[in-house]
Amino acid sequence: MKELSRITETFTESVIREMTRISDSLGGLNLSQGFPDFDSPVEIKLAAIQAIANNWNQYPVTFGEPELREAIGVKAKKYNRIVCNSQTDITVTCGATEAMIATMKAIINPGDEIIIFEPFYENYGPDGILSGATPRYVRLNPPSWEIDEMELESAFNNKTKAIIINTPNNPTGKVFSKKELTCIATLCQKWDVYAITDEIYEHILYDQSKHISIASLEGMNKRTITINSLSKTYSVTGWRVGWAIASPEITSRIRKVHDFLTVGAPTPLQHAGVIALNFNQDYYDSLREKYLVSRNFLYQVLENTGFKPIMPNGAYYMIADASSIVKSLKAETDTDLSINLLKKTGVATVPGLSFYSSKNQFTKSVRFAFCKKQQTLHKVEELLRKI
Ligand code: GLN
Repeated sequence: MKELSRITETFTESVIREMTRISDSLGGLNLSQGFPDFDSPVEIKLAAIQAIANNWNQYPVTFGEPELREAIGVKAKKYNRIVCNSQTDITVTCGATEAMIATMKAIINPGDEIIIFEPFYENYGPDGILSGATPRYVRLNPPSWEIDEMELESAFNNKTKAIIINTPNNPTGKVFSKKELTCIATLCQKWDVYAITDEIYEHILYDQSKHISIASLEGMNKRTITINSLSKTYSVTGWRVGWAIASPEITSRIRKVHDFLTVGAPTPLQHAGVIALNFNQDYYDSLREKYLVSRNFLYQVLENTGFKPIMPNGAYYMIADASSIVKSLKAETDTDLSINLLKKTGVATVPGLSFYSSKNQFTKSVRFAFCKKQQTLHKVEELLRKI
């Protein structure tokens, strides 16, 4: 038989999603993949049911139902300070996942490089590779995960086509500061580079953290693609409704790619999304408060059970150093660590190494997702006592 695609040999399936399957098969408590185990807001569940009853069951406008694009445009202006035209600058996709790969396919040519901060969310590298780019990683170090400006600058060159930003960040919980985003913006303009920014955790912020969209910084509107989705803000990760905001020139290419990849995101859920985007401030405030309680609780639990967690400023993940239990769990790799922890305690995590490009190191860390009911997190406390 003829050789299968060579490019697909250069990356693996997502470890995050694999950990969910392993956890389910072992009856574990799944703190690996980041999805809520509590109910989605009732108003939007009813809106989705109503949309189906209203016969919104056929293909949507390929690049997004006009009402949803309109609502996204209003939100972008108000919350992100991004001025965009919903007719020409927005593409609704099947989750931020599709928005990211469609964006890369829309702007990358073979031989281009993309800059990715490491640790990273798993999708970016494979998305780049599938689009023909070579990823170049810039390391951020715990506990502050601050950008080393010199190191970042040295990653830019004539081949650099784009830099991927994810703020608030998965897996670190870092929220990029104005200073850091300004530094990135300056380099993007100096080297004529696009910024692709994944902002799906934009409403999940703690303490004094503020979300800033790089597209709102001077000179960045035209060279930024801002990606977002309903998934995390409205706790509907299974709906698969996301979007990309970009200039008309970039958008027309994203729309072409999207048209042939998926045609459109689910029509009734796009209509329910309009209701979601019109929620008032109370909704976002209570989302933050809920996650703040969960973050503080999990931090304490991990500290009490021998981990050294790093406090996130945003998003709903916590990286924890597990050096003190490596021996007792007979772990020689991050995968051993996560699997043996699951077998011993019933708590599923993501191995730290999944967020790094070089696969021959032992980070001795795991990632916990805390987008869970208080009850679930109390159960985690009980289970982790077994170590
Ligand atoms: N963002 C989620 C995580 O990191 C996963 C999202 C997905 O699987 N599409 O766990």
